[in-house]
Amino acid sequence: MAYVISDDCISCGTCVDECPVGAISEGASHYEIDPDSCVECGTCAGACPNEAISLPE
Ligand code: SF4
Repeated sequence: MAYVISDDCISCGTCVDECPVGAISEGASHYEIDPDSCVECGTCAGACPNEAISLPE
């Protein structure tokens, strides 16, 4: 299960360079994670200044 970016994303771009597999890109309204590329390392979640990245419940 891939991490997801919520509407709390403020599009700062901090997470993009943190992802080791390049799964994060700018989406229509905020940044998005490609679920097929994400390896669930959690690095991006720790880097987000707005706590917008998490595993879906
Ligand atoms: Fe990339 Fe890891 Fe975040 Fe998945 S959990 S999007 S692999 S940084």
